[in-house]
Amino acid sequence: MTVDTQKETLGFQTEVKQLLHLMIHSLYSNKEIFLRELISNASDAEDKLRFAALKDDSLFEEDPDLKIRLDYDEEANTVTLSDNGIGMTRDEVIQNLGTIARSGTAEFLGQLTGDEKKDSKLIGQFGVGFYSSFIVSERVEVFTRKAGRPPEEGVHWESAAEGEFSIEPMTLEDRGTKIVLHLKKEEKEFANGYRLRNLVKKYSDHISFPVVMKAESDEKDAEPKEETVNDATALWTLPRTEIKDEEYKEFYKHIAHDFEDPLTWSHNKVEGKLDYTSLLYIPARAPFDLYQREAPRGLKLYVQRVFIMDDAEQFLPLYLRFTKGVIDSNDLSLNVSREILQNDSTVESIRTALTKRVLDTLSKLANKDAEKYQTFWDEFGTVLKEGPAEDVANQQKIAKLLRFASTQTGERTQNVSLDDYISRMKEGQNKIYYITSDSFTAAKSSPHLEVFRKKGVEVLILTDRIDEWMMGYLNEYDGKQFQDVARGELDLGDVETEEDKKHQEEATEAHKDLLERIKTALDNRVQDVRVTNRLTDSPACLVVAEHDMGLQMRKIMEAAGQKMPESKPIFEINVEHPLVQRLENEKGDERFKELSAVLFDQATLASGEQLEDPGAYVSRLNRLLLDLSN
Ligand code: ADP
Ligand code: MG
Repeated sequence: MTVDTQKETLGFQTEVKQLLHLMIHSLYSNKEIFLRELISNASDAEDKLRFAALKDDSLFEEDPDLKIRLDYDEEANTVTLSDNGIGMTRDEVIQNLGTIARSGTAEFLGQLTGDEKKDSKLIGQFGVGFYSSFIVSERVEVFTRKAGRPPEEGVHWESAAEGEFSIEPMTLEDRGTKIVLHLKKEEKEFANGYRLRNLVKKYSDHISFPVVMKAESDEKDAEPKEETVNDATALWTLPRTEIKDEEYKEFYKHIAHDFEDPLTWSHNKVEGKLDYTSLLYIPARAPFDLYQREAPRGLKLYVQRVFIMDDAEQFLPLYLRFTKGVIDSNDLSLNVSREILQNDSTVESIRTALTKRVLDTLSKLANKDAEKYQTFWDEFGTVLKEGPAEDVANQQKIAKLLRFASTQTGERTQNVSLDDYISRMKEGQNKIYYITSDSFTAAKSSPHLEVFRKKGVEVLILTDRIDEWMMGYLNEYDGKQFQDVARGELDLGDVETEEDKKHQEEATEAHKDLLERIKTALDNRVQDVRVTNRLTDSPACLVVAEHDMGLQMRKIMEAAGQKMPESKPIFEINVEHPLVQRLENEKGDERFKELSAVLFDQATLASGEQLEDPGAYVSRLNRLLLDLSN
């Protein structure tokens, strides 16, 4: 093995440069969080060492007393944070402090506008971290040596954040990591014992490890003693009654790498058949990579207070992946691995319980604080919508949490619950009606809504890509079936009077020839032509047959490269409409064909669809317009 003995200067990955810039300029009013981030990293490093030492306790190297040391030097204007945790190798330093491994980062940073207000919101989606030290420092030095490696494999890293860093080997007796912040002149306030103590108390009181500082002493030459400045008991091990909201919030920021408060949390100690403690948080903002397959998700797993792993995704279903938190189990073994977690019945039981816990927490939030729940919904609603398909057992609970736009509110905001909907159902109505579309505007003016408007029946407006897929799994809620207003025969229940129904039957009988004639005129383009009970103002509309795939789903599948079997729509006509009456009176076969085609194309357009042959439509329409003016 060759050990590099040279000092080298390397460039940061482009994304790091952008992130550093963003961080320094947008987090200025939050600058003190750098200390929480560094302590959080130090605490993670101690956790990782303790875990590694379960297998190999020589890693403790005669220094099993895990702690974090905070120092400052007023004269030199520095703050120093050291841990005796796992440390880093040279390669790890380059990887961890020189690049960003999260996929999608480049695209994410591409959204930067240069407007600091807007961009500082973006940083919230990313999470801060080690680089936040540059908010207050003009130069940062890292000294680190991996536990179990010889002193000569120590590494010295240094950067002034100007696009590059240097790295060189250095003999380091102590394992772990020491970070020296050379503060900017204007940040002198941080090289102060009282200020630092305050910050530790405020942000890091309940990490699992002691943070020690030299005791402040009045006597110049007295040998300074060391004192622990935080509480140093893991927050989740304390009884709920002893924990303040502020402490819950700070702990969230420590584990979630977030710098905003969570929306809500749930802390529970379970004893009996299972024995575990969980502390689960619902964040206020979605991370930028919520939809990336390989994005980290899941809880931090501890076994008997010992950290085992981050991102233990086996404890929650995918549709609850926004949940952050800690699970500390007394049933699992300390040498549990990801593979074991996958087929473990204890894990399965905890997962079932935690799933229920998260759903209950959300339901409580919805009942208690509609505004906060709306924030949750706007950020994570589309993820929760994966629930009905993934978790059939909890379908009804999930359905209760769903929110929709609706014809009743006329707002784009998804804020109508199924319970709201049911409470407004008309007498005789027994179904929950919805329309799916690519856009809210198109849905709102769809001809399919005409009869609902006339009867005053509310229709939910579903415009997310996932909606049609979700509705494929959701058949009913509270004993009421869902009905897509653009699909199959429209059953309006008793909202439609006997008279209405009779009228439709009679109309079908009376216009039998017309229906047949249109079907022939449209050749093979439609499955059937029917007299509609959906329309009041429009002449015609398209309907998807009961068991065919909807248009939205179809488009998604086709976009994904799937070849879909051909499915033809049903063409419904409004025989009261003057244009249809005009069609019925048309004697010329050619003209009849033209008019039918125009009606069909218009119905396609009104469904928000593209025409197969827009040119043909335009010339047909123009011919008809010319006829009109003759
Ligand atoms: P995060 O903590 O979210 O992973 P950071 O930017 O805070 O992101 O840190 C980046 C990585 O650098 C960490 O994941 C860890 O691997 C490494 N690191 C940072 N500080 C330390 C430390 N004190 N000891 C060991 N590794 C560290
Ligand atoms: Mg960190």
